[in-house]
Amino acid sequence: MRLLRWAAVSLGILRSIGGKTGVDLASGKNLAGAFWQPALVLSDTSLLRSLPDTEWVNGLVEVAKTALLAGEKETVVLEANARHLVARDDVAVLDTVVACARFKASVVGDDERESGRRECLNFGHTLGHALENVLGYGTISHGRAVGLGIRFAARLAEAAIGSSPLLTARVDALLDSLGAYAIPIGSCSAEQLVDAMLSDKKTRGGILRFILMRAPGEWEVVPLEVDMVKMELERMLRDE
Ligand SMILES: [Zn+2]
Repeated sequence: MRLLRWAAVSLGILRSIGGKTGVDLASGKNLAGAFWQPALVLSDTSLLRSLPDTEWVNGLVEVAKTALLAGEKETVVLEANARHLVARDDVAVLDTVVACARFKASVVGDDERESGRRECLNFGHTLGHALENVLGYGTISHGRAVGLGIRFAARLAEAAIGSSPLLTARVDALLDSLGAYAIPIGSCSAEQLVDAMLSDKKTRGGILRFILMRAPGEWEVVPLEVDMVKMELERMLRDE
């Protein structure tokens, strides 16, 4: 089964919802690729049971991202379900996989080529990708990096669009409840991280674009000056 899956991935047959087929290059993740929509999406939740805890948490961070983007109702459901998901309860896992697939299909269905609404899926990934890039792939897991990216986006939203600190506290508590605790990243500087963000393929014209939230489901794409991002990053690195 594993060999079959590997072969399918290698041949590009296996695609996820959204049809993005990316290849990691030495200079960064997912830098080459194409869009090709899948004919069928199958999610075998029993396969998830074989995942080690670290991979499980990686997945739960993406679940948190999805719920926060989807809205208040979805976030409340996840907050209530968090401990069942950590315990890998079958019903909670199935409900969550269906909810996440439904949300992603609704987003990419509206915007196949990543120009508008689909950009929200990058929530937490601007800093996340930079962390993976600077610390080294494999040093920090994708989920941990994105978890920190989501925490940072909440702090940045306070500074840039006046979001409530209560939302930041709620985001932190949600990630904690899913086992995605904040880990120290003091070994890299704000400068290095900003440079990595500027080299990301999603950066347009030297301005950093962040998905920021006022409340669950109420997000916007906010272009920000490099200096402001750097200042907030330094603050987060100091506080860790
Ligand atoms: Zn991700």
